[in-house]
Amino acid sequence: MGGLARQGIDEARLTIQQSRFSRRKRSEKMVNLKTFSGKASGGKSNRAVYDSQNTYENRVKLVREEGGSPSPDETVNNAYDYVGQVFDYFQEVMGRDSIDNRGMELVINVHFGEKYQNAFWDGDEIVLGDGDGKLFTNFSKSLDVIAHELGHGITQFSANFNYRGQSGALHEHFSDVFGSAITQRMANQDARDADWLIGNEIMGPELYGESIRSMSEPGTAYDNSLLGKDQQPSHMDNYYQGSADNFGVHINSGIPNKAFYLASIGIGTDKSALIWYKSLQKLWPNANFNDAVKVIVETTRDLVKEGLVPQGATQKVRTAFREVGLPK
Ligand SMILES: [Zn+2]
Repeated sequence: MGGLARQGIDEARLTIQQSRFSRRKRSEKMVNLKTFSGKASGGKSNRAVYDSQNTYENRVKLVREEGGSPSPDETVNNAYDYVGQVFDYFQEVMGRDSIDNRGMELVINVHFGEKYQNAFWDGDEIVLGDGDGKLFTNFSKSLDVIAHELGHGITQFSANFNYRGQSGALHEHFSDVFGSAITQRMANQDARDADWLIGNEIMGPELYGESIRSMSEPGTAYDNSLLGKDQQPSHMDNYYQGSADNFGVHINSGIPNKAFYLASIGIGTDKSALIWYKSLQKLWPNANFNDAVKVIVETTRDLVKEGLVPQGATQKVRTAFREVGLPK
């Protein structure tokens, strides 16, 4: 497992630069990092939900296992169900057996920390905070957030992008792709019906109507006194050059996100997601945006040949990237 995956991936704190609410220290998490158990699932999901009981530790109390009866705690059941939906999507649509494609156990920690305003993939497990109920509500309430976090796991076990700069923005981008594609599939939506918002279900009463990111209109997800303004660019002309957010991993991801949206409008979200998933298996840790474009276009061409995506898809995907200034 790479060093960057080991560090875990913080979402809200990095996404929303102005956030003053993340209290957990990285070191606390590192101390409690557990190692993957290695249990194989044999093609079926193997979930285990743990209640952190408002501590900053993983695997505090096992509260629901695969096939076990529902918990009286709705948070536990939401997390269990959504993780199951993500597992099924990758199994049925992409032919992938869990996060590592080898039946890895899916460990979920809920009620992590106190009013914790974040969710993250820690390299082995998914961790979900409760939010403070004002800015963010419980992170287990959002399928796209859960799919996004598990998407980081899948990227870790495939392209394994370095979590900084353009490769880091690709890490974020692919997670948003899966978050959005899975949400649309579960809601029986396609590109034109979908809202393309990430995390709108977890916005609390003080942020109601806002979201964390918009894939169709990067830079418009939120604009208020509490969080400031969404900084995501939607074109290479507005590429963020600064060093914050690991050199803009949650900022510049807006550029490929917009291209994915445009491609999905052209050929449908399911077909685009298949192209992106197959491309992810061929990309590598220090790949940049241009590399990703090249691989995604080549993959599209291959899938057209195989009859898995429609004729004309290659041109549409290439055009989608051109509209955001890629390749550069
Ligand atoms: Zn992320």
